[in-house]
Amino acid sequence: MGRTFLEHMGGVKLFSCNSCDANLTNRNELISTRFTGATGRAFLFKRVVNLTYSVVQDRVMLTGRHMVRDVMCKNCSAKLGWMYEFATDDSQKYKEGRVILEYALISESEGFVDPYCNRNNHHEH
Ligand SMILES: [Zn+2]
Repeated sequence: MGRTFLEHMGGVKLFSCNSCDANLTNRNELISTRFTGATGRAFLFKRVVNLTYSVVQDRVMLTGRHMVRDVMCKNCSAKLGWMYEFATDDSQKYKEGRVILEYALISESEGFVDPYCNRNNHHEH
């Protein structure tokens, strides 16, 4: 009892917590790799599981004023990035409800490879 219930996104190209390896999201949920966080490179995802959220904070960024929540790993409480709750600038609205994970704080793995998957279908480099 008292175990943290964790979800698993499945799929190939998984992103996990760097500290405890809890599954967070996968490559299908990735929107953009062109973000910058406190530790450097950061990725924007549509949906991320196994997170806990801080209270809403008002933060002024390069792209305008945003209401954001810090996001932490549900399993080990490591800080992983933040979530956009609300963007005041219309051009930034697409980020609402989306989650930033800092690349230095997550790890990427292959996940389950479908044996029937077309082998020529190796993604963009
Ligand atoms: Zn963790």
